[in-house]
Amino acid sequence: MATITDSITIAAPQVRHTQCFIDGKWVDASSGKTFETLNPATEEVIAEVAEGDAADIDAAVKAARRAFDGGPWRTMDARDRGALIYKLAELIEQEKEALAALETLDNGKPIKDALNADLPLVIDCLKYYAGWADKIQGATIPIRGDYFCYTRREPVGVVGQIIPWNFPMLMTAWKWGPALASGCTIVMKPAEQTPLTCLRMAQLAKEAGIPDGVINVVPGFGPTAGGSLVAHPGVDKIAFTGEHTTAQIIMKSAADTMKRVTFELGGKSPNVVFADADLDAAIAGSHFGLYFNQGQCCTAGSRVFVEDSIYDEFCKRVAGMNHDRKLGNPLDMATEQGPQVDQRQMEKILSYVDLGKQQGAKLLSGGNRFGDKGFYVEPTLFADVTDDMKIATDEIFGPVMSVLRFKDQDEIIQRANNTFYGLAAAVWTQDVKKAHRFAAEVRAGTVWVNCYDVFDTAAPFGGFKMSGLGRELGAAGLDAYLENKTVTVNLAE
Ligand code: NAD
Repeated sequence: MATITDSITIAAPQVRHTQCFIDGKWVDASSGKTFETLNPATEEVIAEVAEGDAADIDAAVKAARRAFDGGPWRTMDARDRGALIYKLAELIEQEKEALAALETLDNGKPIKDALNADLPLVIDCLKYYAGWADKIQGATIPIRGDYFCYTRREPVGVVGQIIPWNFPMLMTAWKWGPALASGCTIVMKPAEQTPLTCLRMAQLAKEAGIPDGVINVVPGFGPTAGGSLVAHPGVDKIAFTGEHTTAQIIMKSAADTMKRVTFELGGKSPNVVFADADLDAAIAGSHFGLYFNQGQCCTAGSRVFVEDSIYDEFCKRVAGMNHDRKLGNPLDMATEQGPQVDQRQMEKILSYVDLGKQQGAKLLSGGNRFGDKGFYVEPTLFADVTDDMKIATDEIFGPVMSVLRFKDQDEIIQRANNTFYGLAAAVWTQDVKKAHRFAAEVRAGTVWVNCYDVFDTAAPFGGFKMSGLGRELGAAGLDAYLENKTVTVNLAE
């Protein structure tokens, strides 16, 4: 592994917004407090950001409430609402290089990934949901009697949206797209580690012409800003992405006001490689499926089950890829792996590496911090992992692959399903029967066959079991932001 010295480095972008965005205006936190957001590659402070709390959340919810109850957003022609969402996508597209650089600065992800993965998906998501705005329809229902019965699909109201730090812009787009298309108004709390791109998107929404109060952003911490958003009686629904333990706190608090909740949570996704797979594709796909985004993906294929006869070759080749992987300045276009998002994550990952060693797994590559500045962790590979080891059961959320051996096709479904998570799964085989059998029997919201991490805005995404509640993306993603209203009209003379 080498730090790159002779390739193109993108200049650090300008930080333009660090305050709360409430009712179309930039304001300091009412307490006057701020918190630091760090560049994880250098550990230097990028900016001081307003630390919103209950008072700022209250102001934002009131603004969102006014915009929903009396404002033009809900009553404007749906097609015009769609056009404003599309305009936001176009403004993002116009400054996609600067936004990608800002994402890289705040999060640490390689600029090449921010530009080629995050930004295109953000733009696609907003354009897709712009197209839905005028296609949200009810039904006519043939009930008994002389009645005309129909349904209206109406926006759920003011939505509180709380997102994590691993894909800050993309999670913003996933939340805003369906909420705006449905006619809801928004109070968003971005993750405290990565507030900057969400704040920039709020300004672009204003410039696109989305009315004041429709989108409000309050940066701050989970238990304070996030907690008050969840508890606020003026909020109708919470959409949350993050840890399942946080979702449990949110679900309990939301119960007091019967808020609707949708959750996108973690995973410990099984990635099964059969001996009859196209091995080159399986190795490349499995490597990408775990190490992409520094391993900070909820869908990371972190339990890799490999059939006995190809096990040694698989491990050897993944270790070779790790050896060649380019770690370094994430603003360098040649960098393949940047730092973890913060010190806490880096330390958590390294503590799992220790646990793996203690419990008898064989360390084939990595296992250490990379360098002494920035929160880098070497791409790490453990072989001889067994199902009960902590590195095989817990979500590590870092660049640590655990490879487990299997011999019998019949055991694999039971082992793959032996987790309380159920977010994603993958299978690599050339046998169509094996592939479909696995896809049908694995308990996961997304199954990839001979591919990994293929996302499209049109396809629903979400978790079985403790990996989530409800779905995002696609037509299914709109359901979370809509109420069904049944209207029955007496037609009797
Ligand atoms: P986290 O749950 O700690 O934080 C997520 C967000 O919730 C942050 O904005 C945080 O400030 C806020 N929060 C924390 N405590 C809160 C509280 N008591 N009330 C309200 N809000 C609160 O998670 P994280 O560590 O930031 O993110 C990593 C986790 O997210 C991983 O488990 C990962 O698998 C999961 N994740 C899931 C998906 C998905 O789509 N399923 C996507 C990304 C990340």
